[in-house]
Amino acid sequence: MAYEVLARKWRPQQFADVVGQGHVTQTLQNAIKANRIAHAYLFVGPRGIGKTSLARLFAKALNCHEGPTATPCDKCASCLEIMSGSSMDVMEIDGASNNGVDQVRELRENVKYAPTRGPYKIYIIDEVHMLSTAAFNALLKTLEEPPAHVKFFLATTEAHKILATIVSRCQRFDLRRIPAALIVERVQLIARAEGVELDGDAALAIARGAEGGLRDAESALDQLIAFRGSKITEADVLAVFGLVSRRTLETLAEAVLRGDVSTLVGTVADLDEAGKDMQRLNLELLDYFRGLLVLLCAPEAAAKLDVVTSQLETFQKQSGLTSPERLLRIAEILSQTEDRMRYSLSKRTLVETALIRCARTTAVSIDELLRRLEAVQKSAGLPVANTGSGAASTATPAAAPAPAPTAKRKVSEPSGSAYGAAPTPPPAPVSAVAESEIDRLTAQWRDLCERVGKVASLARNLLLDSRPLAVTADKVIIGFDPEFAKNMERLQAPSFLRPVQNVLGQELKRQVSVELRLIQSEGMQVDVPADHTVEKKSEPHRAAGAKPIKSKQDWVQEPVVRRALEIFNGSIVDVRE
Ligand SMILES: [Zn+2]
Repeated sequence: MAYEVLARKWRPQQFADVVGQGHVTQTLQNAIKANRIAHAYLFVGPRGIGKTSLARLFAKALNCHEGPTATPCDKCASCLEIMSGSSMDVMEIDGASNNGVDQVRELRENVKYAPTRGPYKIYIIDEVHMLSTAAFNALLKTLEEPPAHVKFFLATTEAHKILATIVSRCQRFDLRRIPAALIVERVQLIARAEGVELDGDAALAIARGAEGGLRDAESALDQLIAFRGSKITEADVLAVFGLVSRRTLETLAEAVLRGDVSTLVGTVADLDEAGKDMQRLNLELLDYFRGLLVLLCAPEAAAKLDVVTSQLETFQKQSGLTSPERLLRIAEILSQTEDRMRYSLSKRTLVETALIRCARTTAVSIDELLRRLEAVQKSAGLPVANTGSGAASTATPAAAPAPAPTAKRKVSEPSGSAYGAAPTPPPAPVSAVAESEIDRLTAQWRDLCERVGKVASLARNLLLDSRPLAVTADKVIIGFDPEFAKNMERLQAPSFLRPVQNVLGQELKRQVSVELRLIQSEGMQVDVPADHTVEKKSEPHRAAGAKPIKSKQDWVQEPVVRRALEIFNGSIVDVRE
């Protein structure tokens, strides 16, 4: 007998065999039993989760000689023909390859003729969103007034690309990604039946690699059997998918939670050398910490997590190492990293710095933070605002009176930047004018990048990961996080800098030069240049001898504020007296 791939061999032949789509199969079976069959169905969902398999199964249920029945017999001529793909009554059209209007015209011609065997003529159109507009319109004409013996089963990965007039004529079913636990169960079932030894970790690795797509999982199993024969281990699977083992993920997560930077750096280096996909690693870690967060915040929802029992046990052990606040911060750092990956040349550097940042996050609750703020204020001899109630105290750091410069310097600098920033000299005050300009540039930064992109698209890409730090009379300072140091270097080229300068000049309505700088520490965005003299004099509303108003930049220099900004990943919006 000819070899048949597993995905085909194990294609579900009964509604009960369909994995993970109970909400759809139940409705379809009820519709058959109640004899309420619509004339068009639209199956929506990611690739490889069984849309066309379900359509074929549904077609078989309708055309079975014992049917329409929710349990097709699989023995009659109609069932057998549909199963072997030779039925004259069930036509499959691949939207991706038959996107011409001619094919749909032909379909419209054929629709008129009665089915040869079963009660229905069924058209299964896969990837229906790929049809050309003309073909869509032709299809629409048929969908508007289909003969009673015609049914349409449309399948798509991208429902939003289908004309609303078509969608509105279909019953729509959204198929879900299949949970890892169900895929594990399924591949283990298939492996047993095929006489292949597949342990739990290996099955889980297949499920992780398949990302909710059963067909991918089955194809991977096929490939692994060809590669390894009758015994498949986790290492085999990881090699095929370029994935990181579950244990390595656990090790990395634990190193982050324990603040063990050397383990982190070493592990990331090993993985990079082994050719593992760094973007994938970042995503898997994000998913991992999300799982841990759910377990901590809502233990009762842990059953809903898409993890297997052994993972849950590790989560439980690690949950003692951290707090929800810290996990939220970690998740935020990793998702920012995910966004940056697209533009980054060195994904490893990005993952490495992100994990170091994660490891350096501290687990501080808001209450604890307020207590610490109070302690610092007391030790600096400042009047302490009422921090007892959380609600009233959010503005405390900015609203407290300015400490005398000497007192300020006594407060020890925080351990500070991971990149060894030198202490910055006290900055000059900045007027409202400069404030509003920098705010304006910050708010419009994306637009400005796009404007640069119209002239120099590469410069735009390099610029996207930067942000404006300060504006002076003749200069705009642009900051890059250390992981984008490479982008910064490349942007230094005059052919890139010039368009940036021009766009900023147009925006500020004066000629400006551009200076690129590395940002030394998270949360400490502003690093005002010493030559910031232009606006110094403009404080007309201050009475002589009064203490100068501290600007945002001044407050950023305050260790307490800086620490608060770091913990909350915040920025100062407004400073009030
Ligand atoms: Zn049958």
